[in-house]
Amino acid sequence: MITTSDIQRLIQHDTNGHTVLSLFLDMSVNSDNKRTHHVFLNKERGRFAELESDRENHHREPLGEVLARIDRWIEESYDPTNKGVAIFAELAGDWFEALQFAAPLTNRLELLEHPVIAPLTEVVSAHPRCGIIMVDREHLRLLSVQMGVLGEDYRVEPDAIDSAHDVQAGGYAHKDYQKRKAEETRHFFRDFCDEINRFDSRAQPDVYVLLGTTENTQHFRELLPKNITDRIVHTAHAPLGAPAAEIVRQVQAVLDDLGRRSEAAALNLVQDRVKQSHYAASGFHDTLIQLQEGKVDRLVVARDLEKDGVQCIQCGFYLVQRDGACPYCGGALRDGIDLVESMIRIAANQDVSVDFVSGDTMRDLKGVAALLKF
Ligand SMILES: [Zn+2]
Repeated sequence: MITTSDIQRLIQHDTNGHTVLSLFLDMSVNSDNKRTHHVFLNKERGRFAELESDRENHHREPLGEVLARIDRWIEESYDPTNKGVAIFAELAGDWFEALQFAAPLTNRLELLEHPVIAPLTEVVSAHPRCGIIMVDREHLRLLSVQMGVLGEDYRVEPDAIDSAHDVQAGGYAHKDYQKRKAEETRHFFRDFCDEINRFDSRAQPDVYVLLGTTENTQHFRELLPKNITDRIVHTAHAPLGAPAAEIVRQVQAVLDDLGRRSEAAALNLVQDRVKQSHYAASGFHDTLIQLQEGKVDRLVVARDLEKDGVQCIQCGFYLVQRDGACPYCGGALRDGIDLVESMIRIAANQDVSVDFVSGDTMRDLKGVAALLKF
Protein backbone atom coordinates (compact mmCIF):
# COMPACT_ATOMS: atom_id res chain seq x y z
CA MET A 1 0.00 0.00 0.00
CA ILE A 2 1.16 3.50 -0.77
CA THR A 3 -0.30 6.97 -0.34
CA THR A 4 0.49 10.59 -1.09
CA SER A 5 1.87 10.89 2.44
CA ASP A 6 4.52 8.27 1.56
CA ILE A 7 5.54 10.49 -1.35
CA GLN A 8 5.63 13.59 0.85
CA ARG A 9 7.83 11.71 3.32
CA LEU A 10 10.21 10.72 0.51
CA ILE A 11 10.43 14.28 -0.78
CA GLN A 12 11.15 15.61 2.68
CA HIS A 13 13.71 12.94 3.52
CA ASP A 14 17.02 14.51 4.50
CA THR A 15 19.74 12.54 2.68
CA ASN A 16 22.57 14.15 4.71
CA GLY A 17 24.62 14.41 1.55
CA HIS A 18 24.36 10.70 0.78
CA THR A 19 23.68 9.49 -2.75
CA VAL A 20 20.28 7.79 -2.87
CA LEU A 21 19.55 4.66 -4.83
CA SER A 22 15.95 4.60 -6.11
CA LEU A 23 14.87 1.25 -7.48
CA PHE A 24 11.57 0.39 -9.12
CA LEU A 25 10.82 -3.22 -10.00
CA ASP A 26 8.15 -4.87 -12.07
CA MET A 27 7.37 -7.95 -9.98
CA SER A 28 4.52 -9.25 -12.12
CA VAL A 29 4.97 -12.73 -13.57
CA ASN A 30 5.45 -13.32 -17.30
CA SER A 31 3.65 -15.87 -19.49
CA ASP A 32 5.90 -18.60 -18.04
CA ASN A 33 4.72 -17.63 -14.56
CA LYS A 34 8.18 -16.27 -13.70
CA ARG A 35 9.44 -12.94 -12.36
CA THR A 36 12.26 -11.33 -14.30
CA HIS A 37 13.45 -8.58 -11.94
CA HIS A 38 16.78 -10.39 -11.37
CA VAL A 39 17.54 -10.08 -15.12
CA PHE A 40 17.12 -6.33 -14.81
CA LEU A 41 19.12 -6.15 -11.57
CA ASN A 42 22.02 -8.16 -13.03
CA LYS A 43 22.09 -5.90 -16.08
CA GLU A 44 22.15 -2.83 -13.84
CA ARG A 45 25.05 -4.29 -11.83
CA GLY A 46 27.02 -4.35 -15.09
CA ARG A 47 26.59 -0.58 -15.40
CA PHE A 48 28.76 0.14 -12.39
CA ALA A 49 32.48 -0.48 -12.82
CA GLU A 50 33.12 -0.14 -9.07
CA LEU A 51 31.19 -3.35 -8.44
CA GLU A 52 33.89 -5.35 -10.24
CA SER A 53 36.23 -4.93 -7.27
CA ASP A 54 33.46 -5.55 -4.74
CA ARG A 55 33.43 -8.69 -2.63
CA GLU A 56 30.32 -10.70 -2.05
CA ASN A 57 30.37 -11.25 1.69
CA HIS A 58 32.44 -8.29 2.81
CA HIS A 59 31.47 -5.35 0.65
CA ARG A 60 34.04 -2.73 -0.21
CA GLU A 61 31.56 -0.72 -2.23
CA PRO A 62 28.54 0.99 -0.61
CA LEU A 63 26.56 0.29 -3.80
CA GLY A 64 27.40 -3.42 -3.56
CA GLU A 65 26.23 -3.44 0.03
CA VAL A 66 22.94 -1.72 -0.81
CA LEU A 67 22.29 -4.11 -3.72
CA ALA A 68 22.95 -7.08 -1.43
CA ARG A 69 20.53 -5.62 1.11
CA ILE A 70 17.94 -5.29 -1.65
CA ASP A 71 18.43 -8.96 -2.60
CA ARG A 72 17.91 -9.90 1.05
CA TRP A 73 14.79 -7.75 1.32
CA ILE A 74 13.26 -9.39 -1.77
CA GLU A 75 14.16 -12.81 -0.38
CA GLU A 76 12.78 -12.19 3.10
CA SER A 77 10.14 -9.47 2.95
CA TYR A 78 8.68 -9.33 -0.53
CA ASP A 79 5.06 -10.51 -0.61
CA PRO A 80 4.55 -12.44 -3.88
CA THR A 81 0.97 -11.20 -4.22
CA ASN A 82 2.44 -7.76 -5.04
CA LYS A 83 3.44 -6.66 -8.53
CA GLY A 84 5.40 -3.51 -7.80
CA VAL A 85 8.37 -2.81 -5.51
CA ALA A 86 10.02 0.55 -4.87
CA ILE A 87 13.18 0.71 -2.74
CA PHE A 88 15.06 3.78 -1.57
CA ALA A 89 18.43 3.50 0.12
CA GLU A 90 21.33 5.79 0.99
CA LEU A 91 24.75 4.66 -0.18
CA ALA A 92 26.97 4.43 2.91
CA GLY A 93 24.03 5.72 4.96
CA ASP A 94 21.38 4.24 7.24
CA TRP A 95 18.21 4.93 5.32
CA PHE A 96 16.59 1.96 3.61
CA GLU A 97 12.91 2.04 2.77
CA ALA A 98 10.93 -0.47 0.73
CA LEU A 99 7.36 -0.17 -0.52
CA GLN A 100 5.37 -2.92 -2.22
CA PHE A 101 1.94 -2.91 -3.77
CA ALA A 102 -0.39 -4.63 -6.21
CA ALA A 103 0.31 -2.41 -9.24
CA PRO A 104 3.32 -3.12 -11.49
CA LEU A 105 6.06 -0.54 -12.13
CA THR A 106 8.53 -0.12 -14.97
CA ASN A 107 12.02 -1.39 -14.03
CA ARG A 108 14.32 1.49 -13.24
CA LEU A 109 17.38 2.21 -11.09
CA GLU A 110 18.69 5.70 -10.38
CA LEU A 111 21.53 7.06 -8.27
CA LEU A 112 20.86 10.70 -7.44
CA GLU A 113 21.13 13.16 -4.59
CA HIS A 114 17.43 12.63 -3.83
CA PRO A 115 14.86 9.81 -4.02
CA VAL A 116 13.01 9.61 -7.36
CA ILE A 117 9.26 10.09 -6.83
CA ALA A 118 7.67 10.36 -10.29
CA PRO A 119 6.87 6.62 -10.75
CA LEU A 120 5.17 6.49 -7.33
CA THR A 121 3.25 9.70 -7.97
CA GLU A 122 1.88 8.08 -11.11
CA VAL A 123 0.92 4.90 -9.23
CA VAL A 124 -0.86 6.80 -6.45
CA SER A 125 -2.65 8.98 -8.99
CA ALA A 126 -3.93 5.90 -10.85
CA HIS A 127 -4.71 3.96 -7.67
CA PRO A 128 -5.86 6.24 -4.87
CA ARG A 129 -6.25 4.65 -1.47
CA CYS A 130 -9.94 4.63 -0.66
CA GLY A 131 -11.62 4.65 2.72
CA ILE A 132 -15.10 3.15 2.72
CA ILE A 133 -17.51 4.41 5.37
CA MET A 134 -20.63 2.29 5.82
CA VAL A 135 -23.17 3.66 8.21
CA ASP A 136 -26.63 2.95 9.55
CA ARG A 137 -28.35 4.28 12.68
CA GLU A 138 -26.51 1.97 15.03
CA HIS A 139 -23.47 0.66 13.22
CA LEU A 140 -20.37 1.88 11.51
CA ARG A 141 -18.15 -0.25 9.32
CA LEU A 142 -14.83 1.05 7.98
CA LEU A 143 -12.81 -0.49 5.18
CA SER A 144 -9.74 0.59 3.27
CA VAL A 145 -8.98 -0.54 -0.25
CA GLN A 146 -6.29 0.22 -2.80
CA MET A 147 -5.56 -1.44 -6.14
CA GLY A 148 -8.52 -3.73 -5.52
CA VAL A 149 -6.91 -5.09 -2.34
CA LEU A 150 -8.70 -4.91 1.00
CA GLY A 151 -6.73 -3.38 3.87
CA GLU A 152 -8.73 -2.81 7.03
CA ASP A 153 -12.29 -3.96 7.63
CA TYR A 154 -13.89 -3.50 11.02
CA ARG A 155 -17.12 -2.52 12.73
CA VAL A 156 -17.98 -0.17 15.52
CA GLU A 157 -21.09 -0.93 17.51
CA PRO A 158 -21.47 1.42 20.43
CA ASP A 159 -23.49 0.33 23.43
CA ALA A 160 -27.06 1.51 23.10
CA ILE A 161 -28.13 4.08 25.66
CA ASP A 162 -29.53 1.96 28.39
CA SER A 163 -33.24 2.64 28.53
CA ALA A 164 -34.39 -0.59 30.14
CA HIS A 165 -35.28 0.92 33.51
CA ASP A 166 -37.22 3.75 31.85
CA VAL A 167 -39.25 1.21 29.95
CA GLN A 168 -39.93 -0.68 33.18
CA ALA A 169 -41.13 2.51 34.75
CA GLY A 170 -44.07 2.66 32.41
CA GLY A 171 -42.67 2.70 28.88
CA TYR A 172 -42.52 5.51 26.37
CA ALA A 173 -45.21 7.14 24.44
CA HIS A 174 -44.47 6.54 20.75
CA LYS A 175 -43.44 10.16 20.22
CA ASP A 176 -41.00 10.10 23.12
CA TYR A 177 -39.56 6.86 21.88
CA GLN A 178 -38.88 8.34 18.44
CA LYS A 179 -37.30 11.41 19.98
CA ARG A 180 -35.16 9.20 22.13
CA LYS A 181 -34.09 7.12 19.11
CA ALA A 182 -33.15 10.23 17.14
CA GLU A 183 -31.07 11.49 20.04
CA GLU A 184 -29.42 8.11 20.35
CA THR A 185 -28.55 8.14 16.62
CA ARG A 186 -26.97 11.60 16.95
CA HIS A 187 -25.01 10.34 19.92
CA PHE A 188 -23.81 7.30 17.93
CA PHE A 189 -22.95 9.42 14.91
CA ARG A 190 -20.73 11.62 17.04
CA ASP A 191 -18.90 8.52 18.30
CA PHE A 192 -18.62 7.32 14.71
CA CYS A 193 -17.00 10.63 13.69
CA ASP A 194 -14.36 10.18 16.40
CA GLU A 195 -13.66 6.70 15.08
CA ILE A 196 -13.40 7.97 11.50
CA ASN A 197 -10.86 10.60 12.57
CA ARG A 198 -8.74 7.83 14.09
CA PHE A 199 -9.18 5.70 10.96
CA ASP A 200 -8.24 8.67 8.77
CA SER A 201 -4.95 9.36 10.50
CA ARG A 202 -4.06 5.66 10.47
CA ALA A 203 -5.19 4.58 6.96
CA GLN A 204 -4.69 8.01 5.30
CA PRO A 205 -7.15 7.51 2.44
CA ASP A 206 -6.82 9.76 -0.60
CA VAL A 207 -10.56 9.48 -1.25
CA TYR A 208 -13.68 8.26 0.56
CA VAL A 209 -16.82 6.42 -0.48
CA LEU A 210 -19.82 6.77 1.83
CA LEU A 211 -22.33 3.92 1.82
CA GLY A 212 -25.74 3.80 3.50
CA THR A 213 -29.35 4.85 3.02
CA THR A 214 -29.89 8.36 1.66
CA GLU A 215 -31.27 9.50 5.00
CA ASN A 216 -28.38 8.11 7.06
CA THR A 217 -25.61 9.26 4.74
CA GLN A 218 -27.10 12.76 4.55
CA HIS A 219 -27.37 13.11 8.33
CA PHE A 220 -23.99 11.58 8.94
CA ARG A 221 -22.25 13.70 6.33
CA GLU A 222 -23.34 16.85 8.16
CA LEU A 223 -21.41 15.73 11.22
CA LEU A 224 -18.21 14.73 9.45
CA PRO A 225 -15.28 17.16 9.48
CA LYS A 226 -14.65 19.08 6.26
CA ASN A 227 -11.27 17.43 5.61
CA ILE A 228 -13.18 14.14 5.28
CA THR A 229 -16.24 15.36 3.33
CA ASP A 230 -13.92 17.10 0.85
CA ARG A 231 -12.56 13.68 -0.07
CA ILE A 232 -15.92 11.89 -0.50
CA VAL A 233 -16.09 11.04 -4.20
CA HIS A 234 -19.15 8.80 -4.20
CA THR A 235 -22.20 8.03 -2.08
CA ALA A 236 -24.40 5.00 -2.63
CA HIS A 237 -26.48 2.42 -0.88
CA ALA A 238 -25.05 -0.91 0.19
CA PRO A 239 -26.08 -3.23 3.03
CA LEU A 240 -23.72 -2.89 5.99
CA GLY A 241 -23.31 -6.64 6.30
CA ALA A 242 -22.29 -7.22 2.67
CA PRO A 243 -19.22 -9.43 2.15
CA ALA A 244 -15.97 -7.41 1.91
CA ALA A 245 -15.12 -8.86 -1.53
CA GLU A 246 -18.46 -7.62 -2.87
CA ILE A 247 -17.93 -4.11 -1.43
CA VAL A 248 -14.36 -3.96 -2.80
CA ARG A 249 -15.61 -4.97 -6.26
CA GLN A 250 -18.36 -2.36 -6.20
CA VAL A 251 -16.06 0.43 -4.96
CA GLN A 252 -13.25 -0.49 -7.35
CA ALA A 253 -15.64 -0.20 -10.30
CA VAL A 254 -16.65 3.27 -9.06
CA LEU A 255 -13.00 4.32 -8.65
CA ASP A 256 -12.03 3.03 -12.11
CA ASP A 257 -14.92 4.93 -13.65
CA LEU A 258 -14.04 8.11 -11.73
CA GLY A 259 -10.42 7.77 -12.84
CA ARG A 260 -11.40 7.53 -16.50
CA ARG A 261 -13.77 10.49 -16.20
CA SER A 262 -11.35 12.74 -14.35
CA GLU A 263 -8.59 11.93 -16.86
CA ALA A 264 -10.88 12.85 -19.76
CA ALA A 265 -12.03 16.01 -17.97
CA ALA A 266 -8.47 17.15 -17.23
CA LEU A 267 -7.43 16.55 -20.81
CA ASN A 268 -10.44 18.37 -22.30
CA LEU A 269 -9.99 21.33 -20.02
CA VAL A 270 -6.29 21.79 -20.73
CA GLN A 271 -6.80 21.26 -24.50
CA ASP A 272 -9.53 23.92 -24.55
CA ARG A 273 -7.53 26.40 -22.54
CA VAL A 274 -4.39 25.91 -24.64
CA LYS A 275 -6.43 26.32 -27.84
CA GLN A 276 -7.84 29.62 -26.55
CA SER A 277 -4.51 30.67 -24.99
CA HIS A 278 -6.47 31.18 -21.80
CA TYR A 279 -4.36 30.74 -18.64
CA ALA A 280 -2.60 27.71 -20.03
CA ALA A 281 0.85 26.49 -21.06
CA SER A 282 1.98 23.49 -23.06
CA GLY A 283 5.25 21.79 -23.93
CA PHE A 284 8.26 21.47 -21.63
CA HIS A 285 9.74 24.90 -22.27
CA ASP A 286 6.68 26.99 -21.39
CA THR A 287 5.30 24.70 -18.70
CA LEU A 288 8.65 24.59 -16.88
CA ILE A 289 8.87 28.38 -16.80
CA GLN A 290 5.32 28.81 -15.50
CA LEU A 291 5.76 26.07 -12.92
CA GLN A 292 8.99 27.53 -11.55
CA GLU A 293 7.40 30.95 -11.35
CA GLY A 294 4.67 29.46 -9.14
CA LYS A 295 1.90 30.15 -11.64
CA VAL A 296 0.67 26.60 -12.24
CA ASP A 297 -2.65 25.52 -10.78
CA ARG A 298 -2.77 22.03 -12.26
CA LEU A 299 -0.21 20.04 -14.18
CA VAL A 300 -1.19 17.51 -16.87
CA VAL A 301 1.52 15.00 -17.81
CA ALA A 302 1.55 12.11 -20.29
CA ARG A 303 2.12 8.72 -18.66
CA ASP A 304 5.59 7.19 -19.08
CA LEU A 305 6.91 10.50 -20.37
CA GLU A 306 10.70 10.93 -20.50
CA LYS A 307 12.65 14.09 -21.13
CA ASP A 308 16.22 15.09 -20.35
CA GLY A 309 17.15 18.68 -19.71
CA VAL A 310 19.53 20.88 -17.76
CA GLN A 311 19.64 22.68 -14.44
CA CYS A 312 21.48 25.86 -13.56
CA ILE A 313 24.04 24.99 -10.87
CA GLN A 314 23.79 28.54 -9.51
CA CYS A 315 20.08 29.38 -9.22
CA GLY A 316 18.68 25.87 -9.64
CA PHE A 317 16.41 26.74 -12.58
CA TYR A 318 15.41 23.83 -14.83
CA LEU A 319 15.58 24.31 -18.57
CA VAL A 320 15.09 22.37 -21.79
CA GLN A 321 17.86 24.18 -23.69
CA ARG A 322 21.28 22.60 -23.38
CA ASP A 323 23.78 25.18 -24.61
CA GLY A 324 24.95 28.50 -23.25
CA ALA A 325 24.45 29.81 -19.75
CA CYS A 326 21.40 30.22 -17.52
CA PRO A 327 19.19 32.98 -19.02
CA TYR A 328 18.26 34.13 -15.52
CA CYS A 329 21.56 34.37 -13.70
CA GLY A 330 24.25 33.48 -16.23
CA GLY A 331 25.23 30.40 -14.21
CA ALA A 332 26.64 27.22 -15.73
CA LEU A 333 24.25 24.43 -16.69
CA ARG A 334 24.58 20.78 -15.78
CA ASP A 335 22.91 18.27 -18.07
CA GLY A 336 21.40 14.83 -17.65
CA ILE A 337 18.51 16.18 -15.60
CA ASP A 338 15.25 14.20 -15.61
CA LEU A 339 12.77 16.99 -16.34
CA VAL A 340 9.65 14.90 -15.66
CA GLU A 341 10.88 14.02 -12.18
CA SER A 342 11.90 17.65 -11.62
CA MET A 343 8.46 18.95 -12.62
CA ILE A 344 6.66 16.47 -10.40
CA ARG A 345 8.87 17.37 -7.45
CA ILE A 346 8.25 21.08 -7.96
CA ALA A 347 4.51 20.41 -8.26
CA ALA A 348 4.54 18.34 -5.04
CA ASN A 349 6.42 21.07 -3.19
CA GLN A 350 3.97 23.72 -4.37
CA ASP A 351 0.95 21.49 -3.66
CA VAL A 352 0.02 21.60 -7.35
CA SER A 353 -2.17 18.67 -8.41
CA VAL A 354 -0.82 16.45 -11.18
CA ASP A 355 -3.02 14.55 -13.64
CA PHE A 356 -1.52 11.70 -15.64
CA VAL A 357 -3.17 11.02 -18.98
CA SER A 358 -2.43 8.59 -21.78
CA GLY A 359 0.55 9.51 -23.95
CA ASP A 360 -1.14 9.46 -27.36
CA THR A 361 -3.78 12.00 -26.26
CA MET A 362 -1.03 14.41 -25.17
CA ARG A 363 0.92 14.43 -28.43
CA ASP A 364 -0.51 17.79 -29.61
CA LEU A 365 0.46 19.31 -26.29
CA LYS A 366 3.99 17.88 -26.55
CA GLY A 367 3.54 15.61 -23.54
CA VAL A 368 2.99 18.18 -20.83
CA ALA A 369 0.66 21.10 -20.18
CA ALA A 370 -0.62 23.22 -17.32
CA LEU A 371 -3.56 25.27 -16.21
CA LEU A 372 -2.36 28.58 -14.80
CA LYS A 373 -3.54 30.51 -11.76
CA PHE A 374 -2.88 33.89 -13.30
ZN1 LIG B 1 20.57 30.38 -13.08
